[in-house]
Amino acid sequence: LGRHRDDNRQTGFSYNGVDFNQSNLNIFAGLCAVDIPEHVEMMLQALEENGQVCTRMGAYKPRTNPYSFQGHGKGCLPWVFEKAGKHGIKVVAMEITHESHIEEIDTCLEKLGRPTGVMLQVGTRNTQNFELLKAIGRQSSYPVLLKRGFGITLNESLNAAEYLASEGNANVIFCLRGMKTEAGQPHRNMVDFAHVPAVKRLTRMPVCVDPSHSVGTREKSPDGILDVMHATAQGVVAGANMVLVDFHPKPEKALVDGPQALLMNELPAYLEDIHLCHDTW
Ligand code: PEP
Repeated sequence: LGRHRDDNRQTGFSYNGVDFNQSNLNIFAGLCAVDIPEHVEMMLQALEENGQVCTRMGAYKPRTNPYSFQGHGKGCLPWVFEKAGKHGIKVVAMEITHESHIEEIDTCLEKLGRPTGVMLQVGTRNTQNFELLKAIGRQSSYPVLLKRGFGITLNESLNAAEYLASEGNANVIFCLRGMKTEAGQPHRNMVDFAHVPAVKRLTRMPVCVDPSHSVGTREKSPDGILDVMHATAQGVVAGANMVLVDFHPKPEKALVDGPQALLMNELPAYLEDIHLCHDTW
């Protein structure tokens, strides 16, 4: 995936009718964690009404605390995929934390007649889980969204992407999601979106930004604009090709990361702002 001098090899790929490359922009707004069918339905309906064909839906959640909600796992896949298909979603970004999840997703999609596609997400806690990366790399049915490790160098995270490619899957998108710093920062993580152009220069991968997990709050600046929106704009202006962002119809009822979720009625303006930033630059 590394870019070499005078490298004219094509960047990007198409999956289930959606193009991913270093020039265009795809938005994956959705639920951090799948909870109840009503919330998933409300989210998907809002996406359809706003012309969106991609989403994020977490079924397998890696949690710091073992007593926290761990996601519904394979039990929710049939109704999530069915609903996604019904609302015209072509790609669902879904984190997996174990290689057995690939088969669970594949079996479910096959049984349903593949109503939607799936992008396998590797979370920041698994960026250097090499056996998981190798297993994901060995399959070529699904593209991969690889999160940057929150406490390792950029180069180490880029090497993790090579684990996927060296096993056979080069359909990889690299996601910046902020870096851990000392406690007491205003944001959950230090936003690292200035690295978007660096990753595009160093590699052939499309680059995603995750403003929700970077910022981690619904704080607003004195001008009334959400920090998540500011961070999104920074990422898009820096050349991001994908935005992964948390929304929730009722954030107070969300089972994971509710405090950073944007509201359903904020979706149209959020999309409009992203397109303005993208078109201007
Ligand atoms: C997520 O996107 O749901 C997530 C847990 O992100 P990260 O791995 O970046 O913390």
